[in-house]
Amino acid sequence: MASISIQHLYKRYGKDKQNVVDDFHLDIRDKEFLVFVGPSGCGKSTTLRMIAGLEDITEGEVYIGEQLVNDLPPKDRDIAMVFQNYALYPNMSVYENIAFGLRLRKQPRHEIDLAVRRAARVLEIEPYLNRKPKELSGGQRQRVALGRAIVRDPKVFLMDEPLSNLDAKLRVQMRMELIKLHKSLGATFIYVTHDQIEAMTMADRIVVMKDGIIQQIDTPEAVYQTPSNTFVASFIGSPQINFVEGKIVEEPGGNLLFNTSRFGLRIPKDSADLLRKHNKIGRRITLGIRPEHIGPEGLYSDSVLTGIYKVSELMGADRFLHLDIGQDKPLVVRVEAYYRCEENEKLRIVMDMSKALFFDADTGQRLTH
Ligand code: ADP
Ligand code: MG
Repeated sequence: MASISIQHLYKRYGKDKQNVVDDFHLDIRDKEFLVFVGPSGCGKSTTLRMIAGLEDITEGEVYIGEQLVNDLPPKDRDIAMVFQNYALYPNMSVYENIAFGLRLRKQPRHEIDLAVRRAARVLEIEPYLNRKPKELSGGQRQRVALGRAIVRDPKVFLMDEPLSNLDAKLRVQMRMELIKLHKSLGATFIYVTHDQIEAMTMADRIVVMKDGIIQQIDTPEAVYQTPSNTFVASFIGSPQINFVEGKIVEEPGGNLLFNTSRFGLRIPKDSADLLRKHNKIGRRITLGIRPEHIGPEGLYSDSVLTGIYKVSELMGADRFLHLDIGQDKPLVVRVEAYYRCEENEKLRIVMDMSKALFFDADTGQRLTH
């Protein structure tokens, strides 16, 4: 069993009172692919290194399986780590690079051979076993680094931005290979990245972090569709979710409207009920809507507004229009690639208000759905 339980984990450096990791609390299931994601400096690597035993724990407990590992040296934790900067031994062959850790452990020669060949087969680097690292591409070298981890047959793999040094195309390919690898090895993976696309494509569950604090732990779908706050909503998804600042008002008939100085949008009943419950009538509120839930008039009923076209980004199949709607930031709308308009043209657009999220304007916490 390689479930991992992280209980109220804290990290403070030196005499600094600041929590670099702040009450990190999480149970990771056996064989789960878990991803820590967040901006640079949010404490992802520090948390991972405390799980690995490479960093002292200031407060809290880490269990691997049933065992408390706080005081266990890294080599006794049945884990393997893969880093962004994997240093291969330049004078050793690929075979020897992969075998190195096992030789240090004085494993019998035939066992080492079996383990190296099995790892090479899984990673599809068998033809290169006799080459030196400099005779390999970046992706092949990264696979050798993975091979060194795999031969140890650990229960837990800890990976810290292992694909960051690869070019974009190779990163996409290696992403898929890591998913396959995870399935075939049947081990628990904790994977650290600042790249929300890596998190979305690979994770069973995502842990979104900011300033050492967990913001949300959820499946990729849930993190995207029901982000816990404006930080998660804007960190996950590309292009970013749109935020529109406005005020909740009640119409004479009892319906709620989201009002800005330029337009008013009818709020669906289930969201309206929750906004009422939170006493938000007459209050400022932040509406969040993703670019794919806005479109040219006719797509959805109600909720028409006018935007002034400024620029667009062609993404191949889609085009993202940037429209001025009288807010600090333009509203980004996803349309078909062939859609054309003139600069400063007035466009009538609609929002699918059933997909709109409402956030507290002060705290950023999600209030609806
Ligand atoms: P991430 O991996 O999310 O980019 P880190 O875990 O590396 O972030 O760092 C989290 C915070 O801890 C950062 O603010 C960083 O400056 C600080 N930090 C990391 N290592 C040390 C150290 N040895 N001494 C003091 N502060 C550190
Ligand atoms: Mg890091």
